[in-house]
Amino acid sequence: MNVNRPLITTVSGTIDPDEAGIVDAHNHVWIDKVPGVRASSPVLNNFTSISAELSDYKIAGGGSIVDCQPGGCGRNGNVLRRLADSSGVNLIACTGYHLRKYYPEDFWLFKSSVEAASQFFIRELNENLLETKEGPVQVRAGFIKIAFEESLEQSPVHLVEAAVAASLATEAAIQAHTERGLNVEKITQCLLGFGLHPSRLIISHIDKRPDLGLHSNLVQAGILLEYDTFYRPKYQPDKNLWPLIRSMVEAGLEEGITLATDMAEPQFWMRMGGGPGLTGLIHQIIPGLEKIGLDEKSIQKLTGKNIAQRLALN
Ligand SMILES: [Zn+2]
Repeated sequence: MNVNRPLITTVSGTIDPDEAGIVDAHNHVWIDKVPGVRASSPVLNNFTSISAELSDYKIAGGGSIVDCQPGGCGRNGNVLRRLADSSGVNLIACTGYHLRKYYPEDFWLFKSSVEAASQFFIRELNENLLETKEGPVQVRAGFIKIAFEESLEQSPVHLVEAAVAASLATEAAIQAHTERGLNVEKITQCLLGFGLHPSRLIISHIDKRPDLGLHSNLVQAGILLEYDTFYRPKYQPDKNLWPLIRSMVEAGLEEGITLATDMAEPQFWMRMGGGPGLTGLIHQIIPGLEKIGLDEKSIQKLTGKNIAQRLALN
């Protein structure tokens, strides 16, 4: 292997992007209960069930999962490492921050300076996730997750600046949560305005705003779009998401899309009595892509290759 090839940082070490396989580009495999947050915040903390379902995913042909829960709102890097080791699934953890509502009232990050926040993100990317500092093994973040509130004015713009600074220092990709794709034009302007390279930007949940013109412009600008409403009838995926995927691929924009299942609630997990579960990507979504006429190469890009390429760092 060429030692200069860019690599993806997983919780168990680095891998070549070609080893990532099928990737769920936005999911949550573990969320600790966070003291001081509202009771409706999602919790995923049944190790036996989660470990078993990760093994199901691996056996079905799954390779990797991008975990989008940052520190302070339920991430547990030590457990992520145990889950990756027990299942053989590559888990990619994040630094960064989520929506304000998932943190206790006085959480330090939201009051920190740009400099302190960016140094913290860089440390989690280069050295260790905070909670793994004392071991048993140190685990690193593989990307930066950030979250935009309903409006840019309500969002912690100093943390956006800090995240971009950390991306510029490390090359790490930023995956940005949007509220149903709201304000994407302003969000993009804000991020690129701080100096972020479009190839380092992944925009989440944007299929909740299935505007083909908007999506085409963003992909043509070099941004990766993450779609994940497959299991959410509320957003009418048959009417919106599936035709959107087909139109984007027909327009030759398949390099700009990555697919995910975003199962932050136990109701989506088979081993917790719900569904379609982690294997839905393989048993439902991939056959769905075949059904709308995508060829094997396009399917591989949408279900792994595109996100793997963006997560790989020199
Ligand atoms: Zn999510």
